Amino acid sequence: MREPSPPADPIIGIDLGTTNSLVAYCFEAGPRVLALTDGTRLLPSAVRYERGVAVAVGADARGRAVEYPLDTVLSSKRLMGRSFAESAAVLGESQCRVVAGIRGLAAFEAGGTTVLPQEAAAEVLRALKRAAQESLGTEVGRAVITVPAYFDLGQREATRDAARLAGIEAVRIVNEPTAAALAYGIGGRRSAQTIAVYDFGGGTFDISILKVIPGDASGAGDLFEVVATAGDTRLGGDDIDSALASELLRTAETAARTAGRSLIPSPRSMQAIRDFAESTKIALSTAESVNIEIDLDGVTLAQTVTRAELERLAAPLVARTIAACGRAIRDSQGIAIDRVVMVGGSTRMPLVCAAVREKFGVEPYTALDPDCVVALGAAVQGAVLEGRRRDVLLLDVIPLSLGIETIGGGVAKLIHRNSSIPTSAREMFSTSVDNQTSVKVHVLQGEREMVADCRSLARFELRGLPAMPAGIPQIEVDFLVDANGVLCVDAIERRSGCRAGVQVVPTYGLTSDEIERMDRAGVEHARVDMHRHRVADLCVHSSLDAKWIREALSRVAADLDGPYREELDTALAEVQRFVGAAQASADAVDADAFQRSKERMDRLSMRLHELAITKSLKSIATAKGTSTP
Ligand code: ADP
Ligand code: MG
Repeated sequence: MREPSPPADPIIGIDLGTTNSLVAYCFEAGPRVLALTDGTRLLPSAVRYERGVAVAVGADARGRAVEYPLDTVLSSKRLMGRSFAESAAVLGESQCRVVAGIRGLAAFEAGGTTVLPQEAAAEVLRALKRAAQESLGTEVGRAVITVPAYFDLGQREATRDAARLAGIEAVRIVNEPTAAALAYGIGGRRSAQTIAVYDFGGGTFDISILKVIPGDASGAGDLFEVVATAGDTRLGGDDIDSALASELLRTAETAARTAGRSLIPSPRSMQAIRDFAESTKIALSTAESVNIEIDLDGVTLAQTVTRAELERLAAPLVARTIAACGRAIRDSQGIAIDRVVMVGGSTRMPLVCAAVREKFGVEPYTALDPDCVVALGAAVQGAVLEGRRRDVLLLDVIPLSLGIETIGGGVAKLIHRNSSIPTSAREMFSTSVDNQTSVKVHVLQGEREMVADCRSLARFELRGLPAMPAGIPQIEVDFLVDANGVLCVDAIERRSGCRAGVQVVPTYGLTSDEIERMDRAGVEHARVDMHRHRVADLCVHSSLDAKWIREALSRVAADLDGPYREELDTALAEVQRFVGAAQASADAVDADAFQRSKERMDRLSMRLHELAITKSLKSIATAKGTSTP
């Protein structure tokens, strides 16, 4: 069925997942997940780097992670907007090394380059953008992108930076569970209800409680109001894989020791055993037991894994999701929950369904495809922002309280968690020494009382204050969190009416200079890619030409004069040298010189081809002549 063509400058919906990412668009008939170039819909969020550039994204990168364990970036979302110092606690599936990037940000070391999580995510977003453009048949530059509800402002900014690197304007950042509720709410329900969205994916867990109030006959749209959110950005199906992989590894080590050997697994084996653990886990969602056999650097591990064993390992992790549900229920003042919508691949585990059933006392709702819900909801929000749908209104909340540092390392809360956004707060400041013309403010996010226990979001400086005795200036600072969860700061000195210049330095995001530098690096990579492409083409074509020339030479060798033959041999040898050099390293080859050399050979060979053709015509004529009676 052909869809009517989308409007110019459409807004697509993107679920940028830790494990898998999807892109969807809301057509007149409703939202639909768009097919990728290979016909599938789930793009594994995996990127492989070689010699400083990204060479594969998605299924290819994920599928060959065992071959290239140290060059494949997996679960980059877990490190998004985090510092190197924090990274140890959040390490995901990737076997590649995590290092300190610019300003101490966590970065991956892969394929001879340092990659920020934002840059790896940008590769995934670029692939989704390409798929959407092909599928919709139009340029795509705007998207609604989803993030876990528990992402702090720094992580949201990092997501927005990734989009900018991919040439996408993130017109709205939406919480994943809110998007899921939006997909779920479509279809015109009649009565108001409270729903919980339980999203257990590969790397993060989220729980949100929303009120859905249906629109009325007067034309008011459905209202989605997030009442409370909680979650854990360091908890997902990956952790279940890790637990099972460790268990399998321990068994293999014991087996090796009994056989008088020691097992020191290579990164390749580590990746293999993780992949193995994941497929065993998935199989155990339907089967009661699975027989496995795996070779680990020469040690064979053969055994049966039962669902009960897997559940014993997964139980503490599932319990943590249930504890977060308890926090969200408390924050929503124990509102009665009508439905629990299950989202994310890990909700296919029977243990997860059982735990949710027990906690909420209702049968979990599994009618929606847990893989697609979030992307579909993002697409609906895209249609709202395009102005094509007016039947839904989204009120999101801020997941963590916002505050500022006070003297002595304390934090004064300005905006409390679970406040609806957009929201704002005003705070008065003054100076502590005479003639002070600037004031530094440190913005933090978190629930704890001391700076050391919260996350630093940004530091900014109010500058250009008029010189006055200490304590006299009255600096009024407005903090505004917009509908995207982006923080803006505005400051004015009341006595003089002087507006202070505000310079915000994000703690975990990227400065605009850094984005620009990375953008340039992207262009640089494009240039490198183009060069390699051109050299590869030159190699193929000149090898073919050289083959024809050698064949012709063998046929007409006797008819050629010495100097011409010599000239042709020299040209052939020169081209051959370029081909050899390109095979060793395309980057080191001067493509223009290569091209000139090939053209010289082709020009010279024209006489040879004429000779060869004349000779074959003659031989045909002779053959005909002899056959004539
Ligand atoms: P994310 O939102 O983090 O990208 P997904 O929602 O795509 O993640 O879920 C991916 C996770 O779901 C992986 O850990 C994967 O192993 C797990 N998963 C997928 N299918 C199943 C299944 N049938 N049983 C158990 N886990 C599954
Ligand atoms: Mg997800």
